[in-house]
Amino acid sequence: MKVFVEEIGVRSETPVDILDVTEKILSVVRRSGVRNGVVVVFTKHTTAAVAINENERRLKQDVLSVLQKLVPKGAGYKHDEIDDNAHAHIQAMLLGVSEAIPINDGELQLGTWQRVFFVELDGPRSRRLTIQIIGE
Ligand code: ZN
Repeated sequence: MKVFVEEIGVRSETPVDILDVTEKILSVVRRSGVRNGVVVVFTKHTTAAVAINENERRLKQDVLSVLQKLVPKGAGYKHDEIDDNAHAHIQAMLLGVSEAIPINDGELQLGTWQRVFFVELDGPRSRRLTIQIIGE
């Protein structure tokens, strides 16, 4: 069994954004040489998230719009007394910081329409993603 870890950079260009990182993850899986196992995609940030869904422009707009309706910016949060981004922390907690994807025969076991996203909730910023692959 092998454990392979790599950190990759992600750059968001707008305050909120859903970035498709599937190809970057696939590149790391290829470099790892692991043919069968699991890849964990994890972010150490507290105002960003990792999610899996369809990369369709209007759907991504809908998701960001729903997050903003559920947890609007500046709605009297206590954390805003410190750095004015409580909404981004709470939105990030709703989505979560990681996804685990099976690898079989060297391929990510994603569904036809599934893509892996880095979700920026308090950008634009340079961000990091930890990719850990466990398998053989
Ligand atoms: Zn904060």
